[in-house]
Amino acid sequence: MKGFAMLGLGKTGWIEKDAPQCGPLDAIVRPLAVSPCTSDVHTVWQGAIGERHDMILGHEAVGEVVEVGKLVKDFKPGDKVVVPAITPDWGSLAAQDGFAMHSGGALAGWKFSNFKDGVFADFFHVNEADANMALLVDDIDPVYATLLCDMMPTGFHAAELAQVKFGDNVCVIGIGPVGLCAVRASVLSGAANIYAVGTRPNCVEVAKQYGATHIISYKEGSIAQQILDLTKGEGVDKVIVAGGDNDTFIDAVTMLKPGGIIGNVNYLDGGEFVRIPRIEWGVGMGHKFIHSGLMPGGRRRVERLMSLISTERFDPKPLITHKFDKFEQIEDALMLMKDKVHDLIKPVVSF
Ligand code: NDP
Ligand code: ZN
Repeated sequence: MKGFAMLGLGKTGWIEKDAPQCGPLDAIVRPLAVSPCTSDVHTVWQGAIGERHDMILGHEAVGEVVEVGKLVKDFKPGDKVVVPAITPDWGSLAAQDGFAMHSGGALAGWKFSNFKDGVFADFFHVNEADANMALLVDDIDPVYATLLCDMMPTGFHAAELAQVKFGDNVCVIGIGPVGLCAVRASVLSGAANIYAVGTRPNCVEVAKQYGATHIISYKEGSIAQQILDLTKGEGVDKVIVAGGDNDTFIDAVTMLKPGGIIGNVNYLDGGEFVRIPRIEWGVGMGHKFIHSGLMPGGRRRVERLMSLISTERFDPKPLITHKFDKFEQIEDALMLMKDKVHDLIKPVVSF
């Protein structure tokens, strides 16, 4: 089969590989729509998870089942499915501890385009198919359903990590597709003021459409100072970090009220350390909590997020700005993600 791969650090290209084998609990899926991710860019061009050779990229796919193992109960060839980016081993001790995404070690539930070939291929393999795939409902176009693989689960997890509750004032740092989903998740969790930080004009427009009450540019001075000015020095209850860099935590801690929570889903792709400002952190005693994590996987979770699209609580359409219709254009879509053209939110390739 053919696939678009990371050949080595900073190098990508098309390769040929044997098609994956289906184990008794697994499924083999043919992609119908795929989307590249900012994480693919961190992986290839920043080397954020280290060297990988001839590894097929991609972890966001909606597809058609072509084969299932003999122990798979709920899926059959021909079913259209959403496959989340994270596909844990549900029988693991980490899963029993409530952190299935780390089954097999830290981040090891993230298998596609990390520990095994990803979805930018003629076929891909899904472990524990009954637990790791969800049937696509008829009323959702596979193009928009690709957002259920990673952008929605991650953005909504950011709001979960920050424990956003009704009446909270929330700052969402970064309003790419992940941060925009976090804005919407905060609205659905009952947030009051939502301060969205970003500059790309169409992202700013979607942030407003999704319910942000204020827009802040990180290019116009300290984010923390702008938030403190807007809140008369009080700060916010919750900070969601979905963009920026290691030093974004300095802003996040500074603008957070005592008792507040930072929910980070940003993938820190360089540097050795994250600095926490001592005084603003209450000299270690400020009850300013930092929760950070990888998106959870799982069929039930995808079904719950899918129901938000079906019931029109979440409109995925504004997030897809670039559509391609040929398998070979996966490469173009990934390059768009790398270069972050000005009007980009998220590209999708369907075939
Ligand atoms: P984008 O690159 O599309 O968006 C990043 C956002 O951060 C933009 O709004 C950008 O602003 C803003 N930004 C850039 N620099 C700064 C800065 N110095 N200070 C504040 N904001 C800044 O990313 P995505 O939405 O695709 O992904 C967000 C992050 O989530 C990535 O790191 C990605 O790898 C990670 N991720 C994590 C997952 C998880 O499970 N934890 C899963 C999937 C993704 P501007 O408008 O100017 O571009
Ligand atoms: Zn992704």
